[in-house]
Amino acid sequence: MQSPLQRDTTRTGHVVVIGGGIAGLAAAHRLLSAGLRVTVLEATERLGGKLMTGEIAGTRVDLGAESMLARRPEAVELATAVGLGGRLQPPATATASVWTRDALRPMPKGHVMGVPGDPAALSGVLSPEGLARIAQERDLTPTAVGDDVAVGAYVADRLGREVVDRLVEPLLGGVYAGDAYRISMRAAVPQLFEAVKEGGSLLDGVRRVQERAAARQQTGPVFQGIDGGIGTLPDAVADAVRAGGAEILLATPVLGLTRTVRGWDVRTDTRVIDADGIVLATPAWSASTLLAAESPAASVELAAVEYASMALVTLAFRRSDIAGTQALHGRSGFLVPPVDGRTIKASTFSSHKWQWVADAAPDLFVLRTSVGRYGEEEHLHREDSELVDVSLSDLAAATGLAARPVDTEVTRWIGGLPQYPVGHLTRVARIRDEVAKLPGLRVCGAVYDGVGIPACVASARRAADEITRDLTGADGGGNARKIAEEIIATPTRVQGTRSEAGQ
Ligand SMILES: Cc1cc2nc3c(=O)[nH]c(=O)nc-3n(C[C@H](O)[C@H](O)[C@H](O)COP(=O)(O)OP(=O)(O)OC[C@H]3O[C@@H](n4cnc5c(N)ncnc54)[C@H](O)[C@@H]3O)c2cc1C
Repeated sequence: MQSPLQRDTTRTGHVVVIGGGIAGLAAAHRLLSAGLRVTVLEATERLGGKLMTGEIAGTRVDLGAESMLARRPEAVELATAVGLGGRLQPPATATASVWTRDALRPMPKGHVMGVPGDPAALSGVLSPEGLARIAQERDLTPTAVGDDVAVGAYVADRLGREVVDRLVEPLLGGVYAGDAYRISMRAAVPQLFEAVKEGGSLLDGVRRVQERAAARQQTGPVFQGIDGGIGTLPDAVADAVRAGGAEILLATPVLGLTRTVRGWDVRTDTRVIDADGIVLATPAWSASTLLAAESPAASVELAAVEYASMALVTLAFRRSDIAGTQALHGRSGFLVPPVDGRTIKASTFSSHKWQWVADAAPDLFVLRTSVGRYGEEEHLHREDSELVDVSLSDLAAATGLAARPVDTEVTRWIGGLPQYPVGHLTRVARIRDEVAKLPGLRVCGAVYDGVGIPACVASARRAADEITRDLTGADGGGNARKIAEEIIATPTRVQGTRSEAGQ
């Protein structure tokens, strides 16, 4: 017979954050700054979710996400707020290549996610026929994009398949590990979607996007890493959150959520925690399960979100062993169009891209490859040693690399990236509409407004701010304020034994 669950009682303004990835931690950080009491519950033994460092040949490197877009502020602001501002480090080199048509070719400039404003920008990466096809676009009658359209289908229709297959696909794949012919233009390349909605040719739309970007005169690095790894960010946020009085419980999967007259019961395997507010910062499948009882409609929508899985193969070589491999030098790595039929989808030369990696291990050359993407996950069932071997084989073909690594690390990210197909944003709007019917509960994370770290932090801020308004009525929080008042007026219930979470 199961022992009775302990009940952890709390005082007013207690928000339970479910999920200790970067979104959950960012939400906790934001909630604390609003003066609320916070408990973070993380299912695994480790914080950070897709942000993780690990060791290769005695050197700590990122084994998950490795860089943050700095052209939007949220991630860099969070890193700075938790004391990592001095360790932000832009890539040492941004000279990436595309391994296509049997050669490593410089990544073209002057395009928006691979869609050019001028065909000449893609010279070399595309065949002469592919370039000629792009140039014919202005003769085509304009195509309406409606409410949304798949990036690949639209661009192929306007400019020919080659530009999609050789450039748009690998670039989008680098973000979503997805299929360009399914991915939503509105979600993935919103500035291009807005420009093409204005009408006219796609080439002109791209030019308008480029002119608007130039007019914003944004300066500073486009991306930032962190000395020691992006994977150090979750722990730094967690330290700040703990210092602010929050409690973080690891190895504590949440198994159920139930609305009560006063707020929420959060059920784990050993306890029930009373909460006034919930931030649900888990992947879609987990959010779907947890919302099944209280919001079946949101649960069904979340269950329909698909994911891509991939593996990262990190390899460390003696620097002396790769010195003669010219193709490895002077670039940060390369993308691989799936149409070329290789196994690896990209390779990042970490020791070139990140000065902190080079400094941490001056005698080593560290690189990583990625294998697998949406609909192409069969490779992930292979043994680690096989993934290392296919990576080495593709690297040899691309760069001439013949050296053997001194250490290898294979990291599988099963369900790593949510997919954003056409209509994803309307699905997200429906989820938010349903969730808004639940007082004091909000969702955030990679499922909703973008998979990149800044987008996850932004969605966390939004969730935290809405909960704060709900609970404190800071801007007339309606129902939830009434609930908060009711909580203040209701004596705390205690059932079973108090545990540490309720102290
Ligand atoms: C291999 C890879 C490389 C990437 N590279 C980059 C990059 O360079 N730059 C970039 O911006 N983005 C990158 N991304 C994307 C980005 O890292 C993720 O989208 C982001 O970190 C997701 O954060 P999250 O908090 O929403 O979710 P997650 O990181 O998935 O965190 C969710 C957490 O919830 C926990 N959880 C789940 N269910 C429960 C439950 N029932 N109870 C309690 N806890 C639960 C999980 O254990 C997990 O810790 C990459 C992603 C992958 C997979």
